[in-house]
Amino acid sequence: MIMNCSQYVGPCVCGKDHELETKMVVVEYDALSRFEEYMDAVGLGGKRRTVVYDSNIYALTEGKHVKADQEIVLPAQGLRSEDVLIEAMMERLDNPEVLVAFGAGTIMDFGRYPAYKLGIPFVAIPTLASSDGFTASICSVILQGQKKSIRMKAPALVVTDLDIIKGAPVRLVSSGVNDILAKYISLVDWKIATLVSGEDYCPMVAGLAQEALDIMRAAADKMAATGEIDHEAMTMAQMKSGLTMQLWHDSRAASGAEHLMAHLVEMKPPRFEKAEGIHGECVGVGTFACVKEYHRLAKLRPKAKPFEPLSGDWVMEKFGERLYDGIMKENAHDVLGTFDPQNIVDHWDEIVALIDTIPPVEEMEALYKACGCKYLPEHIGIDPALEGEMLDISAAIRNRLTLIRMKRVLEF
Ligand SMILES: [Zn+2]
Ligand SMILES: [Zn+2]
Repeated sequence: MIMNCSQYVGPCVCGKDHELETKMVVVEYDALSRFEEYMDAVGLGGKRRTVVYDSNIYALTEGKHVKADQEIVLPAQGLRSEDVLIEAMMERLDNPEVLVAFGAGTIMDFGRYPAYKLGIPFVAIPTLASSDGFTASICSVILQGQKKSIRMKAPALVVTDLDIIKGAPVRLVSSGVNDILAKYISLVDWKIATLVSGEDYCPMVAGLAQEALDIMRAAADKMAATGEIDHEAMTMAQMKSGLTMQLWHDSRAASGAEHLMAHLVEMKPPRFEKAEGIHGECVGVGTFACVKEYHRLAKLRPKAKPFEPLSGDWVMEKFGERLYDGIMKENAHDVLGTFDPQNIVDHWDEIVALIDTIPPVEEMEALYKACGCKYLPEHIGIDPALEGEMLDISAAIRNRLTLIRMKRVLEF
C-alpha cells in the first residue's frame, strides 16, 4: 500500500491550512527493492545521501541495505537518543543533502535530529512498526541529561519493507495494537473537550485517527479470530496515527487520558516504582482502565462544582518530592480553570453518546486477551489496589483536558 500524503494538505474546514513534511508512505512487501523509485518520486533521487544504521540492524538486514554515498553504522550497544551521541555522529557526516535512517525507534532520532539541525530532508526506513512515532514530528530525546519532547524533522518519505517488519516479535505486535486501540479514548476525550471548552478541533485530523483505529480494529479482530497478523494493515494504522500529530502539531488526536499511563510508568512516582512496560503496553493498561471508568461515569449524572487548583499537599503525597516541582509547574495554568464546569453538565447527554461509541468492557477485554495484549495494572507491575486512583494521578501529569481531569470539577 502506498499513501500519497498530499490529500491531507491545504486549507481545511477547521480553518487551518494543514502542512505535512511527509510526502509519501510506502508499506509493502519487498519495498526496499524499489527504494530508488520512491526516492525519485519525492524528488530526492539525485541527492547526496548518508544512510545511518546501528550495528545490529546492519547485520540483520544484510542484503537489504540501500545505496549510499556514505554509510554510518553506530554501535548498537549503549545507543540511545541523547544529544551528545547524536552530535558526535553529526561530526562524521560528509556533507549529505539527505539523511536516511534505517532501523527502529532510536536510530530514527539520529536521522531526524541532524536533519532538523542541518535543514535537510530525512527519510525513514523503519524495521519495526510497533508505535506511531515514525511519521510524527515530535520525539523524545535526552537533552543536557533531561528527557524532553521536542519538534524535529518528520520524514519526507517512509519506506517500510514488510519482509523486515514481519520478523517483529509478537510482544511488539500486541503492543502496537494497544497503541492504536487507545484512540477509542483519545478521540472521545478530544471531542468532549471541544464540546465543553471550545478547544480547537479538526474533523479531518480526527477522521484520520479514526481511520487508523478502524484499520487496527479490523486487523486485531482478524488476529483474535485466526491468529493471523496483518502486518500491512497494522503498519499502515501506525503511519496514519503518526500523521495526525504532524498535521495538528500536537498529539491531541492520538493521545488522551489513557496515554498518560505510559508517562506515569516512566516517571515512577511513589508506589509505582516497580511499574515497567513498553509504550503500547502501558497505554493498553490506561485504555482499559478508561474504558471501564468512562462507561461507569456514563451511567451517572454529575453536578458541577467550582474549579480549584491541584493542592500542593495532594501533589506531594502522590508524586513525592522528586516530581513535585514539575507537576506543579505543568498545572500552573490548569485548563480546567478556563471554562465553566456547568458546560460539562449541560452537554452530559452528548458526552454519554460519545462514550457509547467506546466498545463495552467485556468486548475490549476479550479482544485484548485474544491478541495477547497487556491491559491490567498487574501486567505492567502496578499493584491492582492502585487501579482506583492511577487514572486520577496520571491525569495530573499533563495539562490536557480529558474526561478524567474533568472529574475534579464534577460531583457524581
Ligand atoms: Zn483541519
Ligand atoms: Zn502512543
